Amino acid sequence: MVDFLIVGAGFSGCVLAHQIATKLNRKVLIIEKRSHIGGNAYDYYDDHGILIHKYGPHIFHTNSKKVFDFLSKFTEWSYYQHEVLAHVDGRKVPIPINLDTIKELYGLQLSENEMQEFYQSVREPIHNITNSEEVILSKVGLELYNKFYKNYTKKQWDLWPSELDASVCARIPVRTNRDRRYFSDKYQVMPKHGYTKMFLKMIDHPNIGILLQTDYQQIQQIIPHKYVIYTGPIDYFFNYKYGKLPYRSLNFHFETKDQERWQDAAVINYPNDYDYTRVTEFKYLTSQSHQKTTIVYEYPTNNGDPYYPIPKKDNMELYQMYKQEAEKLKNVWFLGRLGTYKYYNMDQVVAQALTLFERELQNL
Ligand code: FAD
Ligand code: UDP
Repeated sequence: MVDFLIVGAGFSGCVLAHQIATKLNRKVLIIEKRSHIGGNAYDYYDDHGILIHKYGPHIFHTNSKKVFDFLSKFTEWSYYQHEVLAHVDGRKVPIPINLDTIKELYGLQLSENEMQEFYQSVREPIHNITNSEEVILSKVGLELYNKFYKNYTKKQWDLWPSELDASVCARIPVRTNRDRRYFSDKYQVMPKHGYTKMFLKMIDHPNIGILLQTDYQQIQQIIPHKYVIYTGPIDYFFNYKYGKLPYRSLNFHFETKDQERWQDAAVINYPNDYDYTRVTEFKYLTSQSHQKTTIVYEYPTNNGDPYYPIPKKDNMELYQMYKQEAEKLKNVWFLGRLGTYKYYNMDQVVAQALTLFERELQNL
């Protein structure tokens, strides 16, 4: 008999396993259907000895000291500020759009004040912003929207920005200065020895057991337990009784090049060309020295692992129906990107897990 069955060995599952095992001194069994821990943040050394992220580039960034301090118990960090270029009009220019982007695209050398005036002159005044098209038009106007956002979004989601919640494109800041960083958060770091090592340390405890290559539905009747923490897709848990929640997936195509560097930035976005959205060169992220380099192309698709919940109104309504079912269950909690159908970053998932533990689990 275990006290807690935790479904999924990603950030959500591993953070809670650690808290329950160490703070409540209760037995936890993690059930993971893949052959490894770490969820989508899993990394490993490929055949060439290069550290890669199996499920696409994962860059850690947060404003939460609490989340940063919690994870710091399990890893040292490397300082890393993520920069991205977008291939637009035949040039590779900084994204988020900043002073240099405008200089390189239009030959305009603007001060910060002039940059604000520039945005003011091109932006469309929209008062009640309801979708991702409006959020971008209201910041940078139609021309920059067409160059940077419209086609990238269509490729990534197979939806136009007007069909997606405003929060999707609002993830990308718009800058008036020369700051080339993709993120603005206070803490921007990478785990020094990789994510998987960090997870291993997090769940290294005598109260924590783990079963890999096991689906929850295979064992739920067999292994006696008191409580369930479920971090997989919520619609699957309920056997799709209200229908399938849509998820967007990706096909990853890895290539190893016989040269030390391949491209001019960690990530290059291709909004308007090719079938892939972006190309990542891992060595930028991991600071690894190696004579070769591995890159990954991301091809969006509807089939495959559920990587992205799709933020749009009808999907949210469907999710609410599952959420109401979930709330009726005693002794089962849902969390994480799939369990709560939210487009969460890693730090948000960690924060959610820590909060769930403090508010509900620590008094059990
Ligand atoms: P997951 O990592 O998805 O873990 C859930 C686990 O549950 C999986 O291992 C799955 O196999 C398992 N599971 C599901 N169903 C079952 C079942 N029935 N039985 C047993 N096991 C099951 N975030 C950032 O902060 N920065 C980034 O740069 C970043 N880049 C990303 C890039 C890509 C391409 C993707 C897809 C995501 C990215 N993220 C990034 C988001 C990040 O991956 C998630 O926030 C985080 O991994 C979510 O953790 P989780 O534990 O909720 O879910
Ligand atoms: N986006 C875009 N152009 C870009 C980068 C992002 O239109 O060059 C939009 C697109 O809709 C994307 C969203 O902003 O899905 C969020 O981008 P982010 O880089 O945060 O995506 P993720 O890393 O989560 O895939």
